[in-house]
Amino acid sequence: MTNIKDNLAIIKQQIAHVCQLTHRAYDEVSLLAVSKTKPGNMIEQAYQAGQREFGESYVQESVEKIQQLKHLPDISWHFIGPVQSNKTRQIAENFSWVHSIDRVKIATRLNEHSSRRDTRLNVCIQVNISSEQTKSGVTIEELAELAQVIEQCKNLELRGLMAIPQKNAERTTFDKMHQLFNQLKQTHPQMDTLSMGMSGDMQDAIAAGSTMVRIGTAIFGGRD
Ligand SMILES: *Cc1c(COP(=O)(O)O)cnc(C)c1O
Repeated sequence: MTNIKDNLAIIKQQIAHVCQLTHRAYDEVSLLAVSKTKPGNMIEQAYQAGQREFGESYVQESVEKIQQLKHLPDISWHFIGPVQSNKTRQIAENFSWVHSIDRVKIATRLNEHSSRRDTRLNVCIQVNISSEQTKSGVTIEELAELAQVIEQCKNLELRGLMAIPQKNAERTTFDKMHQLFNQLKQTHPQMDTLSMGMSGDMQDAIAAGSTMVRIGTAIFGGRD
């Protein structure tokens, strides 16, 4: 049986350990628990263990769970999957964050559907840092222009960048993301989030400057 509470404690220890080794402050790295495909009761167990930030990738599944867990009001839901244009309304109505904006159309749709929110929708731009054909994300060349568009969207708050480096990516890939993040911060100084690092590559991501790791398997167990 998956012991979610123990797994969360282990992950936090590992984050603290890498922070110590790389001279980073532990509170610079937040933990997003990726609960996609996992049932509401597992999310509730993580919640009871103190976890508040959860990541989801599939709209229909996640909206059902968000409704089901409405009694846990201080959860912050992060959408981290590919965003389809016809799902932007549901995403804007149910999530506090979207990590995976990768085109102008998605940004403007999310902005339109966020007009009734009390707070802006926090967004990150996904960068296809390993230039994988099958992966979402903007190219490095497209990044600055999309950031400018998002800056004009009054219901969106540009918080930073997100990446899913290729499996077994070299450390330089993570460093490159950190470099892009710092560059873009010069024109968008409010940016504070570099969303990078999963169960398999958390160490390199943190060492390279990630401020938010997205961990699924190591907390909730494997997915089918
Ligand atoms: C599923 C997923 C994760 C979590 O991956 P694990 O390997 O299970 O930790 C992180 N980020 C994104 C974008 C995902 O889709």
